[in-house]
Amino acid sequence: MIKDDRPLTCPKCRRVQYFVCRNEKCVCWERLPKNKKPQKFNADGETISCPYCGFTAHADYWETREMQFAFGN
Ligand SMILES: [Zn+2]
Ligand SMILES: [Zn+2]
Repeated sequence: MIKDDRPLTCPKCRRVQYFVCRNEKCVCWERLPKNKKPQKFNADGETISCPYCGFTAHADYWETREMQFAFGN
């Protein structure tokens, strides 16, 4: 069973992470609560950072972590 209501959190500061793509008109931006910050893309185009503590990891890391959360592993 997929638990898609478990939010992805930062491994360092444990705050909930909101992933949005670079297109600010995309629907994924509508899922971002108004008082929350989205994850930050870095200039290298490969890594994404937590907007709160600055924890940086490769996009694959975040994707894998999100899957683990979703499937409860
Ligand atoms: Zn963090
Ligand atoms: Zn999007």
